Parts: sequence; C-alpha cells; structure tokens
Amino acid sequence: MVRRGFAVTATIYVVGPLGGPTVKIFRVADCLFCGIAAGDIPATRVLESPRTIAFRDISPQAPVHVLVIPKEHHQNLAAVAEAGDGLLDEIAAQAALVASDTGVAETGYRVVFNTGDHAGQAVHHVHAHVLGGRPLDWPPG
Ligand code: AMP
Ligand code: ZN
Repeated sequence: MVRRGFAVTATIYVVGPLGGPTVKIFRVADCLFCGIAAGDIPATRVLESPRTIAFRDISPQAPVHVLVIPKEHHQNLAAVAEAGDGLLDEIAAQAALVASDTGVAETGYRVVFNTGDHAGQAVHHVHAHVLGGRPLDWPPG
C-alpha cells in the first residue's frame, strides 16, 4: 500500500577528517515536495536557504503565491515544530523574506499552514503558503 504523502528517506553522512564536510542525501519515494526539494520535479524557485526552498505555487490564488518548504520531510506544522532545532523559525524567516522580495511586505500578506483534512491539506509535506498582492478575505472560506 502506498501511503499518500509519505516519504521514505535515507540519510547518508560522509564525515571527513577532523569532523570535515557532511553530506546529506535524501531518497524520495512518493512525496511531491521532496521531489521538488531534490530537484527531480521542476518548480519556479524564488529563494533558497540551507534548509528551505521557496517556489511559486502552480495554481496561484493571489498575485503572489509562494510556498516555503523544509528540504527535509515533515508531514505538517506539528511535526516540524516537534522536530525543533530552529527549522520552523527558518521557514517563518524565509516566508518574511519572500514577502519583502516579492514586494508585498508593505501592503500586507498572509502566511498559512493548511493542516489536516478540514483545512484541505493536499500535500503532506509541511509548507507555508505566502499570499499577497491583493486584499485577502477574512475569515477564510
Ligand atoms: P495544501 O492544500 O495546503 O496542501 O497546498 C498544496 C499546494 O501545492 C496547492 O496550493 C497546490 O496548488 C500546490 N502545488 C501542487 N503541486 C505543485 C507543484 N508541482 N508545484 C508547485 N505547487 C504545487
Ligand atoms: Zn516530502
């Protein structure tokens, strides 16, 4: 049985003398965003940091609609928060950087982590939607 959004990952560490360079390789089974992170699936990247990638949503819901993901697979917000080590901070910082780089920081923008069925989470690799460039309704539908 294939579990939707579940990624099989293998991490290989290559450590040189004196604790030298470390290489991490993720093998991906069936996660779309792991595929984008690995460069196997094309995406329009707008920003990258050591542990995150930001790319344009394929079906934009606003003039600016960018997704920020960790390169490492975590299913949702709770999982990435639990992982700790500052990764969630890095995602939030990248979302703020996307907003300033795309020119919506001044006018305002929304950062959304859809989580679970009621929120309509379709891709089970945590992602922050950064939406802006037009007035956004509240409450959301
Ligand atoms: P969510 O419903 O919060 O899981 O959001 C998933 C988002 O991923 C949706 O807004 C989709 O439009 C977007 N998406 C799906 N496939 C791709 C892709 N190949 N490249 C970029 N965005 C995608
Ligand atoms: Zn993944």
